Amino acid sequence: MSDKEFDLIVIGGGPGGYVAAIRAAQLEMKVLLIDDRQDEDGKPAPGGTCLNVGCVPSKALLDSSKHYHHIEHDYAAHGISVDGLQMDVGTMIDRKRKVIKQLNGGLMQLFKANKIEFANGRGKLLAGREVEVSPNDGEGYTAKGKQVILAAGSVPFTIPNVEIDGEHVVDNVGALEFGEVPERLGVIGAGVIGLEMGSVWKRLGAEVILFEAMEELLPVVDPDMSRAAAREFKKQGLDIRLGTKVSGAELADGKVRVSFVEKGEEKTETFDKLLVAVGRKAASEGLLAEDCGVELTERGQVKVDQDCRTTADGVWAIGDLVRGPMLAHKASEEGVAVVETIAGQHGHINLDHVPWVIYTDPEIAWVGKTEKQLKEDGVDYKAGSFPFAATGRGLAMGEAAGHVKILADAETDRILGAQIIGPTASEMIAELVVAMEFAGASEDLARIVHAHPTLSEAIHEAALAVDKRAIHKAN
Ligand code: FAD
Ligand code: NAD
Repeated sequence: MSDKEFDLIVIGGGPGGYVAAIRAAQLEMKVLLIDDRQDEDGKPAPGGTCLNVGCVPSKALLDSSKHYHHIEHDYAAHGISVDGLQMDVGTMIDRKRKVIKQLNGGLMQLFKANKIEFANGRGKLLAGREVEVSPNDGEGYTAKGKQVILAAGSVPFTIPNVEIDGEHVVDNVGALEFGEVPERLGVIGAGVIGLEMGSVWKRLGAEVILFEAMEELLPVVDPDMSRAAAREFKKQGLDIRLGTKVSGAELADGKVRVSFVEKGEEKTETFDKLLVAVGRKAASEGLLAEDCGVELTERGQVKVDQDCRTTADGVWAIGDLVRGPMLAHKASEEGVAVVETIAGQHGHINLDHVPWVIYTDPEIAWVGKTEKQLKEDGVDYKAGSFPFAATGRGLAMGEAAGHVKILADAETDRILGAQIIGPTASEMIAELVVAMEFAGASEDLARIVHAHPTLSEAIHEAALAVDKRAIHKAN
């Protein structure tokens, strides 16, 4: 017999879980939200990986380091000179912590305003939608939910012979907390985290080497995009070693010696810090009692159908815990869709149109299909692209690297995918997402008035280029 009963219990207070909890409260459900995270003062720190050790802190450091880099490298061209430029890493890290704390506090207020019961502790799903709650402070209890959403998120993968000690060898958590700029930073994995965090510390003066097992950089985008990205990263001094397999790392005299195989040859490099960023896995450990009825996939993710139903009646799972891209906005929209479905509405998320953004400089953003995928699917398509170097705004800003590419069905002209590498790609991709969700054609974008001078004119021109009628470039 449970101590308490709720319409909905949510385990995990990241962007998936807390958004689901708020939407459920709006729909007048009695909600219990359980999240185990605490800050360094022992206070609840809702917001999950994303707010505490992911999206938000990494962007705070990317912004700080970008300001520093601009002053050091780009301001002279504007006639601005700065003497005695210095970087106080402690202030940068404190600023990041303040941003997180402000948002943690904002979420606690939102839970209160929405009358959500919040438990700071661990939740474990038992049989029959009972949940064992083990608060960080105080007595444990069980609660029963008419419905339960599992939103426990993900944790980093580790690799053999490379032990994370949190000081010299770190994962995303440690890489957001360095007390000073490492002279030499090694990064295992040139994926999203590796490129973003590598950029932060490179801009601040570290020598950064990224070891990437695959032969290709960013195979998730088309080769013209990844080539443009590789060119820019090289200019910035990021040393990306493709086709490199790390076999181990060991500590010696306060440094980390990394052994790796490059082009068949065994080599070593020594670093002050080593970041391991080789992907993430579902955080299903300790979440499920054996008889709870929820099955896992071979990869350890919670098995769900297209509507996020698990194999246990009335139990749902969302976000990084399940299939699909590991992105905060995907987790949130799944949370909303599940709650609306529970409430008898038509909850829906289109996983085909989830935008991706890598917040390097230039930013890289994409949505829908790539050319590679369209070719594999045998789809006849047209492509139009346009460089920022041909836009007045890009040149005026001094940020003209990169281009926009739009892919449209050869027959119907419906937009099937888009990729942007360039300034504010993270914001501009939204126009393409909207167009695709409205089943728009490249002709629709071509006929829409875009303000001048703006970066979004590159989208307009790329849409025109699909039909070989871009104005500011030869077609
Ligand atoms: P999480 O955010 O992981 O939240 C799950 C929460 O549940 C955590 O607080 C966890 O401690 C808690 N929990 C787990 N098990 C239990 C339990 N049994 N009981 C109680 N609580 C539990 N995505 C983007 O879209 N944009 C970005 O810019 C971006 N940047 C990132 C940068 C980094 C460095 C990292 C690591 C990730 C980044 N991501 C980004 C990915 C993003 O953080 C995740 O996709 C997102 O957080 C997933 O949300 P979620 O709610 O599924 O899980
Ligand atoms: P990732 O999958 O993006 O990249 C991991 C990289 O490591 C891959 O390129 C892989 O080939 C490589 N790799 C794997 N094993 C290796 C090995 N032994 N040696 C060398 N290279 C190896 O994973 P990530 O960077 O850890 O990020 C995890 C997830 O977090 C991302 O996939 C994404 O879903 C999310 N994330 C998103 C953002 C964003 O949206 N801007 C930012 C950070 C993280």
